[in-house]
Amino acid sequence: MKRIYLDYAATTPADPAVVDEMVPYFTNVFGNPSSIHGCGQEAGGAVAEARTKVAKLLGCEDEEIVFTSGGTESDNSAIEGIAYASEAKGNHIVTSSIEHHAVLETCAFLERRGFKVTYLPVDKDGLVNPDDLKNAITKKTILISIMHANNEIGTIEPLAEISKIAREYDIPVHTDAVQTAGHIPFTVDELGVSLLSMSAHKLYGPKGVGALYVRKGTKLVPFMHGGAQERERRASTENVPAIVGFGKAAEMAAATMQQEAAQETALRDRLIAGLMKNIEKTKLNGHPTKRLPNNVNLSVEFIEGEAMCLTLDLAGICSSTGSACSSGSAEPSHVLRAIGLPHQQAYGSLRFSLGKWTTEADVDYVIKTLPPIVARLRAMSPLVNR
Ligand code: PLP
Repeated sequence: MKRIYLDYAATTPADPAVVDEMVPYFTNVFGNPSSIHGCGQEAGGAVAEARTKVAKLLGCEDEEIVFTSGGTESDNSAIEGIAYASEAKGNHIVTSSIEHHAVLETCAFLERRGFKVTYLPVDKDGLVNPDDLKNAITKKTILISIMHANNEIGTIEPLAEISKIAREYDIPVHTDAVQTAGHIPFTVDELGVSLLSMSAHKLYGPKGVGALYVRKGTKLVPFMHGGAQERERRASTENVPAIVGFGKAAEMAAATMQQEAAQETALRDRLIAGLMKNIEKTKLNGHPTKRLPNNVNLSVEFIEGEAMCLTLDLAGICSSTGSACSSGSAEPSHVLRAIGLPHQQAYGSLRFSLGKWTTEADVDYVIKTLPPIVARLRAMSPLVNR
């Protein structure tokens, strides 16, 4: 069976050109970048080159990039790093209620250690209100962490506005840009942030590698203790093949993302229009225009997202659901709760995320396949008013 992969927000396949670039670094160029001999220096040179490519994508200096094991580590190390470095100044962090668990769980961890966290609400489209941020700031606020775009509903947050407010109070801003880096063009200066997390496997690079951008002069307590790698900001021998692959993926994204974003936006809008026209009682979640080019998140009333997702899988379509209940608790996600979806909509949410290899034929196949699935599931649903 042909598979149509529409879960690029969960992970992307590595681009074959990325894999080609990585291969020699498992075997021929295997040295430890910290070694002073030629083998080590060759590997170190490749890491330096990759750093330049990632820095170029973000519009920052090479030395402001710290390679990590992925988005989760970048988020953890940014938030904990600032928290522990700023204890003399204060203990208050502001974040949003729709962050990824990598941010929310780090904040919860810090709360258990005496830090105070304000979770800003969002409006029905998932946007943070900058006035709420202003009101939340206290003399003890040491960090503002607001994601660039939400991974479930695709809403893009007003980061430049948020950073402008933060600057008035001299508070650093961290953003989780895992879903935007390499997908929509921006620079760290345009966003005005001091810290930014990214992950290679969301932009056609390998899994298990990411980066934290740290603006020059930003003080962080290191998250990993050990060797002096990454200018003493992240101990452990560099994952050279993965970093090389990440660099290649960043270089390719810088060259092609504008065109890919335009292509994805057209397909995204075709998919939204096709599904909303052919399925009654369907709602688009997330902001109608301030949204990721590749994100479609719909609530289909009276049926469960999981049931749609699994039935689509049988038809060869990989999607995802925002009301994930892998634990069996069947609770809608914190994001859908935060945008205030009523029960019957939160349970019926389904996410399609498109990528550079998504075609019009893929989208049309979903538009043809989903409506009869919904009709079948609704016919069995006790929630439908008959
Ligand atoms: N932040 C966001 C917004 C994400 O979507 C993800 C991945 O799903 C992460 C963080 C975690 O990234 P990683 O899988 O590289 O740890």
